[in-house]
Amino acid sequence: MSYVDEVIAQVIEKNPSQPEFHQAVKEVLDSLRLVIDQNEDAYRRDALLERLVTPERQLIFRVPWVDDKGQVQVNTGYRVQFNSAIGPYKGGLRLHPSVNLGIIKFLGFEQVFKNSLTGLPIGGGKGGSDFDPKGKSDREVMAFCQSFMTELSKYIGADTDVPAGDIGTGAREIGYMFGQYKRLQNRYEGVLTGKGLSYGGSLARTEATGYGLLYLVQEMMKCHGEEMTGKTVVVSGAGNVAIYAIQKAQQMGAKVVTCSDSTGWIYDPEGIDVDLLKEVKEVKRARLTEYAAARSSAVYHEGRGVWAIPCDIALPCATQNELLIDDAKQLVANGCKAVAEGANMPTTLDATEYLQANGVLFVPGKASNAGGVATSALEMTQNSERLSWSFEEVDSRLQNIMINIYHNIDNAAKKYGKEGNYVVGANIAGFEKVVSAMNAQGIV
Ligand code: NDP
Repeated sequence: MSYVDEVIAQVIEKNPSQPEFHQAVKEVLDSLRLVIDQNEDAYRRDALLERLVTPERQLIFRVPWVDDKGQVQVNTGYRVQFNSAIGPYKGGLRLHPSVNLGIIKFLGFEQVFKNSLTGLPIGGGKGGSDFDPKGKSDREVMAFCQSFMTELSKYIGADTDVPAGDIGTGAREIGYMFGQYKRLQNRYEGVLTGKGLSYGGSLARTEATGYGLLYLVQEMMKCHGEEMTGKTVVVSGAGNVAIYAIQKAQQMGAKVVTCSDSTGWIYDPEGIDVDLLKEVKEVKRARLTEYAAARSSAVYHEGRGVWAIPCDIALPCATQNELLIDDAKQLVANGCKAVAEGANMPTTLDATEYLQANGVLFVPGKASNAGGVATSALEMTQNSERLSWSFEEVDSRLQNIMINIYHNIDNAAKKYGKEGNYVVGANIAGFEKVVSAMNAQGIV
């Protein structure tokens, strides 16, 4: 049995009931076979893969808090400090009822490679809780966040582990957690990112993931002899990533004709009106029906359907497993040239393979949505310097980072004879830097 297969089998045996973690390890290691097979003896001797798939530290803790009726509630908190070979652990905190150890490990494992691809000194980690902020009062959210941070604060720090937001953890939650950390530790330091601008947050962090996605796509198109001007783009989602992806695509001269939310989608052949979309989603927190009601060129449809609209570029920016094999077939039939993931794992494996087999340029989220975490790392730098950079400065660094990511994954794919396969390229480029740092630091 090859070393890769041996380690995949061990991961399944040693981590029962964690299907998402098994899947993530399998996908990454499968695409690294080319590299690992060439170094099998040395890697096996050093148990390199066993160390790579085993988190450095896994913390699971009780989070008791009191609800508005005086009832004590108990949630479970997690922080998985996966790999610190290239820098302090960095990765978000997810607050959602579906959170369990396997999901946090899958996200933490992926984060190691994503963070490596940014070129910045950040290791990989992830955390969260099965607490659901939806439907809770501000006081209840604060009570939870303070209790969660009371335990988490023992294990994190500006040079150790710097968590950020993720699903369910927005500006409000980050603020409560930061306040509690400062109170407990008596230290004002950049221990969290995604902070408000009045207490150490970075300009351009809000826009970073969507803008970064477009910077990478633009560079890729340029390298394939294409311009963004005049391209038709379909986008899914209407949240943070989608809104700023739409905005940047339009600034680049493309026309974005769709967006979606969890109940329906919009087709707007005149091009999405971003100001109206922001008003509906960021200000009113309403459904997309309100967008259609305010704009005569827009048609609202229930359910899903954005991938059926003919386009040059498709950007899935909503959620996992939202672009399926039939969608991929439709995109290919309509002449789509490129798909780049704004969300995490929006494209199923069979859909990815179909797109690649049919000549569509495909960029995995690990590379194309890395602008968010990269800008979080820039927030850490500003906090360490006790300085705040201008929007233009952060944006221009983001742009360089995304262009570099594209060339890194492109070169890595070429180096191993897989030109144009950016899935393989992203995994290899992320892996090589982490492995080089792990090897240099000895058996730890
Ligand atoms: P938001 O919560 O701001 O937006 C998510 C959007 O997707 C919302 O419009 C939501 O609809 C919609 N949505 C949710 N579920 C579905 C569904 N089943 N079908 C269609 N639409 C759906 O999240 P973000 O924009 O921040 O994140 C989107 C994705 O990007 C996630 O996968 C996230 O992990 C990833 N990501 C985000 C980063 C960031 O910096 N924000 C960084 C890297 C990755 P509704 O409005 O109805 O809730």
